Amino acid sequence: MTIKTIGILGGGQLGRMSAIASANMGYKVHIFTPEQDSPASQVSAKTFVAEYNNEKALKEFAESVDVITYEFENIPVETVRFLNAIKPVFPDEKLLEVSQDRISEKSFLNKININTTRWKKLSSASSVVEALNEWNSDAVIIKTTRFGYDGKGQIKYKSGEDINDTLRQLKGDLIIEEIVDFSCEISVICARNSKGECITIGPMLNEHKNHILHKTTYPAPISPDLAAQSISMIKNLAQSIDLKGVLTLELFVTKDGKLLANEIAPRTHNSGHWSMNACIHSQFDYHIRAITNMPLVECTPHSNGEMLNLIGNDIHEICQYLSLPNAYVHDYGKSEAREGRKMGHVNFITPRQK
Ligand code: AMP
Repeated sequence: MTIKTIGILGGGQLGRMSAIASANMGYKVHIFTPEQDSPASQVSAKTFVAEYNNEKALKEFAESVDVITYEFENIPVETVRFLNAIKPVFPDEKLLEVSQDRISEKSFLNKININTTRWKKLSSASSVVEALNEWNSDAVIIKTTRFGYDGKGQIKYKSGEDINDTLRQLKGDLIIEEIVDFSCEISVICARNSKGECITIGPMLNEHKNHILHKTTYPAPISPDLAAQSISMIKNLAQSIDLKGVLTLELFVTKDGKLLANEIAPRTHNSGHWSMNACIHSQFDYHIRAITNMPLVECTPHSNGEMLNLIGNDIHEICQYLSLPNAYVHDYGKSEAREGRKMGHVNFITPRQK
């Protein structure tokens, strides 16, 4: 089948940057989002503005495109299932389902021998006491199993605190996690197409501020052995789930030099934005190549990169970066600079020595 038009579920900045990459490859993009004037709509041929359960609008959208992808993981699985009966959706619903729920995510990772921090499903307040005893620790993190992001939906619980008070603050099913004593956080990205060709980007170092990604640095300052381990982990994951598209794996590097997987994102990732200016092909180019089954050439960065997120009012300070020869400013076109909102990012590029 010749692909002319790509459909993207979600209208955020990841959709916008995937749409720009698509346009560079000659594709048209249609967006499906409940949001008016979304960042992705601004650079796409057409937008269907409707809720994700609006089957009439979903059908029209699916019939207007040749292949469908999504740019965030909180799309209902039923929506993807519905669309997939009309046009192929990549990555498929299995990856989406696994990554939407921390318990299925960790169970899947453990099943394919990828280590995570120790965890337990929270059945009642006594599960927390059991976890503290079993792990011989005086604190744990309790997280909602679904819809958590940027540190939302999680609380550190210390032994002796009122557990019922903590649980009242969290909604839905919960997971208890051992607190990792990490030396740093890294991520790695993988793209894979239907032919099974597979490339990786990273690993890169991620630093957070107020639970939101603040800065990413490539290459991550870790040993070549750990870097190689992170790459084989994500390749194992991509193959096990028969990935068609892009996924990201977030990992902790523990103080005693081990890797523990924290989270899977079934999509491009904020920590991959540096690739837009430091590599021949960015994570968004690979995303579009993967879902359209085009060749996936190795990612060989020509430069080292540092990505700084512009959060909220940071976007009003971009003048300071515009006059720097090694800085590329990306603005997502969002009209309102709300606190904590990702408004853009700056890539600082340093060519690699031959
Ligand atoms: P998450 O929503 O799981 O990605 O968590 C957001 C951030 O909270 C992570 O990037 C870590 O900085 C921190 N965090 C989450 N889980 C743990 C854990 N089990 N131990 C230590 N820090 C954690």
